[in-house]
Amino acid sequence: MTSIPRKKNYNQLFLECYTKEFPCVTCSINESNYTFCLCCACDINISSGVSMADHAGPLFRKMFRKSEGAKKHGCGRTKTVAKISEMADECQSYLADMLKTTPFSVATDGSSDESTLYPKRFTNQK
Ligand SMILES: [Zn+2]
Repeated sequence: MTSIPRKKNYNQLFLECYTKEFPCVTCSINESNYTFCLCCACDINISSGVSMADHAGPLFRKMFRKSEGAKKHGCGRTKTVAKISEMADECQSYLADMLKTTPFSVATDGSSDESTLYPKRFTNQK
């Protein structure tokens, strides 16, 4: 039996703290997975973390009107996802190599109703 791959469902919602960190955005009067860009006076879909990349080019062109770099900026969602994937591959390899040679600790939460942590130290030394 062949399974049909499920389409990923992204549900990122606007949080008030976004305005503190990025004063140019505020809540949208429309859907909760949109934010309103005060620079461009338009709604931006934030349902997935990288969907805001589609708005970077138009925003940069408004913010830096004389910049040739801003005019040429072409890195929307697709290219951003490709870059993140490439960086993740590199980081994963670097992290794996580092963990083979460097002692490290991991703490896990023991249960859902207590804040008991169970730390464990890992090292390659015998
Ligand atoms: Zn904008």
